Amino acid sequence: MKRREVIQKLAYTVPASLAFPSLLAACEPEIPPTPVYDGNVIIIGAGAAGLYAAQQFLDKNISVQILEATDRFGGRVRLQDEYFDFPMEEGADWIYGDNNLWHRIVTGSGANIIQYPETSRYMLDGAIKTADDLANDVDFLTAMNFINDIPNYNGPDLTIKNAVFSANLPTRVQHIVDAITANSRGTSFESISIKGVADGERLWNDGEGRFFAANLSLANILNGAFSQVIPHIKLNTPVVQVDYTDSEKIRLTDASGGTHECTILIITVPINVIKRGDINFAPNLPINTTAALDRIGMDKGYKVMLGFYVNFWGQEVGMIYTNGTAPEYYAPGMGRSLNDENRVLSALIMGTQAEALTGKTDDEIVQQLLGELDALYNGQASQQFDESSTYVINWGDRDYFNGVKSYPMVSGTGAAEAYATPINNRIFFAGEATALNGNYGTVQGALESSERVVKEVLEVIL
Ligand SMILES: Cc1cc2nc3c(=O)[nH]c(=O)nc-3n(C[C@H](O)[C@H](O)[C@H](O)COP(=O)(O)OP(=O)(O)OC[C@H]3O[C@@H](n4cnc5c(N)ncnc54)[C@H](O)[C@@H]3O)c2cc1C
Repeated sequence: MKRREVIQKLAYTVPASLAFPSLLAACEPEIPPTPVYDGNVIIIGAGAAGLYAAQQFLDKNISVQILEATDRFGGRVRLQDEYFDFPMEEGADWIYGDNNLWHRIVTGSGANIIQYPETSRYMLDGAIKTADDLANDVDFLTAMNFINDIPNYNGPDLTIKNAVFSANLPTRVQHIVDAITANSRGTSFESISIKGVADGERLWNDGEGRFFAANLSLANILNGAFSQVIPHIKLNTPVVQVDYTDSEKIRLTDASGGTHECTILIITVPINVIKRGDINFAPNLPINTTAALDRIGMDKGYKVMLGFYVNFWGQEVGMIYTNGTAPEYYAPGMGRSLNDENRVLSALIMGTQAEALTGKTDDEIVQQLLGELDALYNGQASQQFDESSTYVINWGDRDYFNGVKSYPMVSGTGAAEAYATPINNRIFFAGEATALNGNYGTVQGALESSERVVKEVLEVIL
C-alpha cells in the first residue's frame, strides 16, 4: 500500500506513552498507586480498541466489562481457519510500520514476522506489467509521482478523483491511483479526500514497511496479549440501547432484553453501527457527534480469497493493481503456508467497486474475478482454480460492522477529533475511526485510540 511506502521518507519515533505496558514496563517511570474508584466501566465492542482499553483499566484495578455483539472477540481481526493451511485473516492482515504498539505486540508474541514485498504488478492497457516495463512510460511515472507527492498536498479540499482530474492525469493510469490511494483505505477515489489523506500521511509516525505474522493468526496474538481481559468479556451481547438520562448511572439494554449499568461508558463499535442507528441513545447523541460522523466515511468492501493449484502470477509478486472488479490483489500465503505454497490471491474490492457487486452471489463474484484474471494471464486462472480454497467475505453485509474501515471525506478535517469528544464526561469514544495520528483504519490506530480514551477517563474519575 503506497500510503506506507510514501511515508518511508519520514523518520519518527514513537512517544513513550505508546509503549505497551507489559512489553516495555522497564521504560515506564513508575507504577501509579492503586486508584480508588467505586464506579464501573463498560466498553461496547471487543475489538483491538476494546480489549486494550479493558486491559488498562484492569491494570489499575478499575472494574471493567466488555459487551460484545458477536460470538468472538477480535472484531475486524478475525481468523479464517477452515480453508487454508496458514493463518488466513478475514480482516486486518498487514502490520503497517515497524515502530508502533501493534508491531511490538506481534513481535513480543513470538510470531515469526516477515516483511511483505513491494514488488508490484500493474495492469496497463489490458496487460500486466512490472515497474521496469513501465520505467519509460510517462503516464505511469506521472501517476506514481502524483501518489508519492500526496503528503505535500496543500491545495483545496477535493476528492482524490477530482485532484486527479485537476492534475490532468491520463485516464489509462487513473485506476492505479484509485487502487493505491483509496481502495487500500477501504474506499474509492471519488469518495476520499486528498487533503484528509495528506494530513494523515504527515501525522503518520508508526514506522516503515508492512509485515505479516507468518505462523500465528492475529486473533491468537490478541488472545495472548489480552488474556487477562477475556474473563471480562460478555459475548453474544449486542447493545441496542444506551440510556444516559440518569445523572448517576448509564443504563444499557442488549438485544435479549438484558440490562447493564455503568458509571463510565466507552463505545468502540465501527462507526457504521452508530451511523445506521443500530444503537438507540436516550437522549439522542449530541449534534456535534452525529455531524462529525457525517464527515467520516466507511464503505462496503469485500475480501475474496481465490485458491489456485499453481501460482501463475509469480512467486515474488506482492501487489497486483488492476482496473477491473478488484483494484488490488495480494498473496496472503506468501512466506506463511505450511507447505510453502504461495497459491492464494486475495482480491480487495472496496467502495464503488464493492457497491457494483450488490445483488451478486458469491459464485458470480468469483466467476467475474476469474474471468478478469484469465484475460490477464492467458486463461490460467480458470484452469488452475481450486474451489476448495476459495472464500468470499462481504464486510458491508456483516452485522455489527457494515463496512470495512473509516476514511477521511471532503470537509472531514477535525471530524475524528469531534467524534472522539466525550459526552458529559461519561460517554467516551475509541476505535480506529478515532485514531488521531493518521493511523485510522489500522489495528495500531485502534490501540492508540484506547490509550487516549483511558487517559481521558482517568482524568475524569481520579
Ligand atoms: C477487510 C479488512 C482488511 C483490513 N486490513 C487491515 C490491515 O491489513 N492492517 C490493519 O492494521 N488494519 C486493517 N484493517 C482495519 C482493522 O481491522 C481495524 O482498524 C481494527 O481491527 C479496528 O479495531 P476496533 O477495535 O476499532 O474495531 P472492531 O475490531 O470493529 O471492534 C468493534 C467491535 O464492536 C462490536 N460491536 C459492534 N456493534 C456492537 C453492539 N451494538 N454491541 C456490542 N458490540 C458491538 C463488533 O462486533 C466488534 O467486535 C482491515 C479491516 C478490514 C475489514
